[in-house]
Amino acid sequence: MTITKPSLPWLHVQFDELLKNRQRLAHAYLMAGHAGLGKLDFSLALARALLCQEPTPHSCGHCQSCRLFDAGNHPDLHILQSERQTLDRDDLSARYAVRHLPADTGRKGRKPSTVIGIDQVRDCLPDIQSRPHIAARRVIVINAADDLYINAANSLLKVLEEPPPDTHFLLISHEPARLLPTIRSRCLRVNFRQPPHEQALKWLGDKLDDERRAGQMLARARGLPLRALTLADERSGEADAALEKLLASLARRQLDPVAAAAQLRKFDSSGQVLSWMQRYLADAIRAKLAPGERQQNTGWDLIDITKRLNFRELYEFLDMVSLQRRLLEGPLDENLAFEDILIRWQQMFSTRGVR
Ligand SMILES: [Zn+2]
Repeated sequence: MTITKPSLPWLHVQFDELLKNRQRLAHAYLMAGHAGLGKLDFSLALARALLCQEPTPHSCGHCQSCRLFDAGNHPDLHILQSERQTLDRDDLSARYAVRHLPADTGRKGRKPSTVIGIDQVRDCLPDIQSRPHIAARRVIVINAADDLYINAANSLLKVLEEPPPDTHFLLISHEPARLLPTIRSRCLRVNFRQPPHEQALKWLGDKLDDERRAGQMLARARGLPLRALTLADERSGEADAALEKLLASLARRQLDPVAAAAQLRKFDSSGQVLSWMQRYLADAIRAKLAPGERQQNTGWDLIDITKRLNFRELYEFLDMVSLQRRLLEGPLDENLAFEDILIRWQQMFSTRGVR
């Protein structure tokens, strides 16, 4: 593996810029921007450069530190990530994150947590207070700070207020506005923006070996290249299409909500279903605000059906979906939650005669 630089080409200029001032690096960075731009890739490449024993100023790739980093064994790198995310990924970040997760992570029948808990923060505190083991400094990557449970965020804040020497915190955030302002103010912000269309298209086209499809996926993902790659993953593309069809059939009364809820249980996770619904509703609201504009995440059929709803109904339904999504992190019955949502959905169309 070579991660001397981030693997994503649109991050290179920003990366070089940051490392130019190697002597004046901040103790905490906030990597801010939409999901799907490569903030984790960037943070890992930066962590590797910070830990490298022979930096150029990029990481050298052959010193002891670089080798341990790549093997997933660097004692001075810590990654905090939710259980859910760690179990969903099979990459370097998961190898590091698992160190600070509870011992029974992944046990059958236990629902993986979607937040970063205080125990995870506490688990790496003793290490933060001591000297780095082999590198000149240590790095803590938080992927993502949005997932910090409130007491975990407060505990982290205390460390950020009196940062231990030789320690760098790299906080990733997809929604920085929702972080504690006191956390934001302790970090130097690095903003991630959408790459130029041509560059993203070339990258995705090479990945998919199909430029036309790359263009379609990129449009659906609103120009976020990594999100586009996920969409292109056939299974997730199929899932989106199946969800669209299901909501359309419900609106047309070709399906009843209880049967539809049972179908939803076949999806990978309830979080996936509800986050798709949130994206779709955001699309539907945008489509009403700007009727001529093409909506990227959702097919025309569903957007067309949704035109019959008013803003109030759409916002209330979005609130309902968001609330259920939060509740599903607790011991809520998934089936009942889906049924509630789908019954409400069908009711909204009951007097509107969708064909
Ligand atoms: Zn090195």
